[in-house]
Amino acid sequence: MNRRDFLKYAALTTFGLMCFDGGVASLRAEAASDLAEPPIYKRLLTFTEYEPRSSTDMIVVHHDGFPDTDKDSTALEIHKFHQQNLGWAGIGYHYLIRKDGMIEQGRRPNAVGAHAYQHNKNSIGICVAGNFNIGEPTEAQMQSVETLIGWLCRKYSLDPLKRGVIIGHRDVSDTSCPGVNLYERLSHIRREAAR
Ligand SMILES: [Zn+2]
Repeated sequence: MNRRDFLKYAALTTFGLMCFDGGVASLRAEAASDLAEPPIYKRLLTFTEYEPRSSTDMIVVHHDGFPDTDKDSTALEIHKFHQQNLGWAGIGYHYLIRKDGMIEQGRRPNAVGAHAYQHNKNSIGICVAGNFNIGEPTEAQMQSVETLIGWLCRKYSLDPLKRGVIIGHRDVSDTSCPGVNLYERLSHIRREAAR
């Protein structure tokens, strides 16, 4: 979201909350329903280009995989790395899950990502902060990844238990991503997301 979009969004949000009590009530009702979006921290990241995604058939799970360290990377840090070191439009993942379970938005949810070569046009990329060839995902990260994937599957009408819907990056590319310690938990994540 650029600055002008943000100001427009902020104005609309403020206006909506000031003028329509019913709007607030329906937001609360939605929060209580199964279809509620989990809390997502939306950063104001600036992208150099934007291409809308026309279909969503697959969710690809990643780790950040920074070498020799299992650290709590931020969306902003990865955004800068992907822009400055790789020359991309910005962070390639749509979501990043921090060690404390906080979900940060990366690339706009409806944009084509840059996370799984030849599969970006029809997939969502979720990165779990850390290097899971070295460390283990935290309990908070596991809960957030399960909740987020469950919500995305409802949003895009995907069956998390169907083969090829929730995959690890290594299933489609020559990489160890998302690390052995997260990859071995994918079947657990699929089951929990389906609940
Ligand atoms: Zn990956």
